[in-house]
Amino acid sequence: MPDVSAPLVPRPSVGVQGRPGGFTAESVRQDFPVLHRTVNGHPLVWLDNAATTQKPRQVIEALTAYYSTANSNIHRGAHTMAREATEAYEAGRAAVADFLGAPSPDDVVFVRGTTEAVNLVAQTWGRAHLGPGDDILVPVLEHHSNIVPWQLIAKETRARVVPVPLTRNGEIDQDAYADLLSARTRLVVISHASNVLGTVPPVKEMTALAHRYGARVLVDGAQAVAHFPVDVLDLGADFYALSGHKLFAPTGIGALYTRQEILAGMAPWQGGGNMIESVDFGKTTFAAVPHRMEAGTGHISGVIGLLAAVNWLTSLDRAAVAAYEDALMSYALQALATVPGLELIGSAPDRIAVLTFTLAGHDPATVADWLDRDGIAVRAGHHCAQPALAHYGLESAARASLALYNTSDDVDRLVTSLRGLQASA
Ligand code: PMP
Repeated sequence: MPDVSAPLVPRPSVGVQGRPGGFTAESVRQDFPVLHRTVNGHPLVWLDNAATTQKPRQVIEALTAYYSTANSNIHRGAHTMAREATEAYEAGRAAVADFLGAPSPDDVVFVRGTTEAVNLVAQTWGRAHLGPGDDILVPVLEHHSNIVPWQLIAKETRARVVPVPLTRNGEIDQDAYADLLSARTRLVVISHASNVLGTVPPVKEMTALAHRYGARVLVDGAQAVAHFPVDVLDLGADFYALSGHKLFAPTGIGALYTRQEILAGMAPWQGGGNMIESVDFGKTTFAAVPHRMEAGTGHISGVIGLLAAVNWLTSLDRAAVAAYEDALMSYALQALATVPGLELIGSAPDRIAVLTFTLAGHDPATVADWLDRDGIAVRAGHHCAQPALAHYGLESAARASLALYNTSDDVDRLVTSLRGLQASA
């Protein structure tokens, strides 16, 4: 067992105290049962937050309470439990709208996650508005789920997917972006935070510039929402996508915000129950948005869990959370610098605490495996962002991604284990 008692470098000191309303990592850790398990004989260190976040007991209890007391289908039930479940589901929509600063709950469509949100936009808005010679600008740091749906619809509509290059430190090259924008640009897509480089691009400025050309802007918020507050109106986003499971909520639920005047004009995406007003073999009419976009029985318990997660996160002082994560990232950067042969990729000045690295002499899978033996969960591979890794001449890397419940002890455990791997070589 490595000695983790002595700090490797000076610990971050962030003077944020107490709850409710306040924040300390130690106090929020108490909300996460899984953080108290052991893995391979060691207390778990969960550093795979960019893949998925752990769930607080408030979310777990909301799911149990829903299934124990209120399980029902929604929107068409003529009984008490159906009304209760419908109210909870629609409260979830209102909470997500508030969370994103959206003007109305009707601006929010529930989907499976960011991937489905992007595909929905590609297949509905994209199919209607893209045509031969149109450009879709896609920064090189995007997740595959914000590249491939555009390639698919571009092929069908004979539009073009145009990559926007990165600078060496992993920022979106703003000069190149400005040069690529033109009257042909129909859509710009941007991650609000990169899952491999951590980069937080200047989305508001990029959006304003795109709008000058009449282009729409889709923002992928999958990695952003757990780390800092989002205001879709301030960003000017036309579309904003998120995944619940990266926001302390269950898997299989996510949300798409769309500016109301765009959403109201969007054709249905899937057909079925829930999305219609009336069905006749002569003529079928559709429900108003957002229900028009939600065919079939939705992920009701997922929405209840998402509601609990949003309530839980917004009960914290989010400025304090962001300050803490920044301080922890600085600490981690200093501590990782003490590991021989470790090279980080991505050094944008504005970024979230995603630490993607290579370790000389060891492939990333071996690194992840070694850390796992010490109870430390990181990810290794291409992180569904092959173009971003290719920008650094890599096919694979290891990634430690931090969340609000991680501590400098977690970072010390990571660094000590990595030093141990180098010492064993
Ligand atoms: N975008 C980004 C930036 C991501 O990190 C991820 C998940 N790794 C996604 C999109 C896709 O999210 P999901 O798999 O939840 O649909």
